[in-house]
Amino acid sequence: MERKGIKIVKADIKEIVQQLNKALSDEWLAYYQYWLGEKVVKGKFRQEVAAELGQHAGDELKHAGMIADRIIQLGGSPVLKPEQWYKLTNCGYDAPEDPNVIPILKQNIKGEQCAIEVYQKLAEMLKDKDPITYLMVLSILKDEIEHEDDLINILEDIQ
Ligand code: FE
Ligand code: FE
Ligand code: MG
Repeated sequence: MERKGIKIVKADIKEIVQQLNKALSDEWLAYYQYWLGEKVVKGKFRQEVAAELGQHAGDELKHAGMIADRIIQLGGSPVLKPEQWYKLTNCGYDAPEDPNVIPILKQNIKGEQCAIEVYQKLAEMLKDKDPITYLMVLSILKDEIEHEDDLINILEDIQ
């Protein structure tokens, strides 16, 4: 049956789904980067940093779930294969090759700043066209701004 919830969207649904799949790929890579960062991080303030990284990992996983649910609601399909994450990602993946707190924090701050730009652009694209995806994107954007703020505050405490 035709879905009214889809009909009210005043933008190209395929394009929205494509952009959401790119964001979904970012979220999975961000999740893994934080998840691994929590495990390998070392140095001064390790426990405090690890706790924050673990919390952010949980948030990125939550974002992935929100985005996947919305893609399905729009009649699309979330990326089916992890190998596609690397092709679709906007922000990439920064391996924690140097596990010291400062490089780990800087890598993740860079990731958050990229995410903020991605969601800001998505919000601009969706405003007045797809209110529900717009609302979701704003809620994720709010979290990413908090993440950036948390990490910069810790970095400034350490330095
Ligand atoms: Fe996120
Ligand atoms: Fe984040
Ligand atoms: Mg936090």
